[in-house]
Amino acid sequence: MRSCTAPRAFDEPIYVTRPILPSLETYLEYLREIWTSRQLTNAGSLTGELEHLLGAYIEASHMSLFNNGTMALLTACQALGLSGEVITTPFTFPATPHALTWSRITPVFADIDPVTMTIDPVAVESLVTSRTTGILGVHVYGLPCAVGALQVIAEKFALRLVYDAAHALTTRINDRPIINFGDISMLSFHATKLFHTAEGGALVTRDEQLRQRIDLLRNFGIKNETTVLECGINGKMSELHAALGLCALSLIENERAARRKLATVYRERLGDFPGVTLMPMLPNVILSDQYFVIRIRESQFGMSRDALCAALKRFKVFARRYFSPLCTEYPHYKSLSSADPARLPVAYAVAQEVICLPFYGALGIDGAHRICDMIEYVFAAPLERV
Ligand SMILES: *Cc1c(COP(=O)(O)O)cnc(C)c1O
Repeated sequence: MRSCTAPRAFDEPIYVTRPILPSLETYLEYLREIWTSRQLTNAGSLTGELEHLLGAYIEASHMSLFNNGTMALLTACQALGLSGEVITTPFTFPATPHALTWSRITPVFADIDPVTMTIDPVAVESLVTSRTTGILGVHVYGLPCAVGALQVIAEKFALRLVYDAAHALTTRINDRPIINFGDISMLSFHATKLFHTAEGGALVTRDEQLRQRIDLLRNFGIKNETTVLECGINGKMSELHAALGLCALSLIENERAARRKLATVYRERLGDFPGVTLMPMLPNVILSDQYFVIRIRESQFGMSRDALCAALKRFKVFARRYFSPLCTEYPHYKSLSSADPARLPVAYAVAQEVICLPFYGALGIDGAHRICDMIEYVFAAPLERV
């Protein structure tokens, strides 16, 4: 394992992800179509086509496209009539609790599972009060929440169950798409996501009536020329974004295959390091290939996650500490009683350990090997090499 000569740094900065892009010519063909039709937005034919094709690809019963994932999540809160308190995870991107706050809902933070890093159902149940109206789980890194246990709790207390599936477009559990659990799942098609439309998102539901309500809310609540039924918002995806999505859709399978090869390299080369825990492989789960996360336990690895991050930067590798700090450390949430670190021991420990490695097809297996060489090198002599 010991390597003595320092690996060569990358010439260009290497980030955690890089968006897939079609050839400009392919995108131009769609733009010509748009220029001819002059329909730029408002339920155009490309948005309709993407809704249909992407929905079929992920086996969604009903999918509504949005202009971003956060707007989709706000609309989910509205469509389900959530209010009072909603139980969620602190180990996520800011959009998750912020969507609740913008909906005048108090997020109540529950601790997470030490292996899947998703919300712990036992903690969730202990936090239910008379003000609780829902649960908002996050399939973080595409690892599925304990969907069965959460469903039982939701039914027991008559709560709505929403999933932030921004990382989990293609996650499957027992050969079922993860997006088909709960009342609504939210997807993000931001440029950092495996499938993207530059900015974009969606809601998925199995309930046709709920889908109609979502579609109404997405477009100001307008039913027809003379009737505005609800207090909706502008959540529509434009034709230009949908066109990018139609191009990206044809690239997903290749990108996933390339990412799986990188995951194999990381697993083979980093699995035996003391103090390194790889992203878990769970029985009957197919992961979404969105992120590759490892955890660094300082006491065994000999250096902290932060020191490893700093060392990798010297090789121009910009690994990320997703999701640290926890949402409960933001000034806006810090003073909530559910944000007390003493109640969130697992989340606080995990947030100290996680590091997302560069994970995109164009990195190539050679790139992944070079990153492993760098980790090996700093591991061999952590003090001199930070
Ligand atoms: C990306 C992301 C979002 C937000 O999606 P946008 O499309 O950027 O609004 C929400 N939750 C999680 C967990 C995310 O990673």
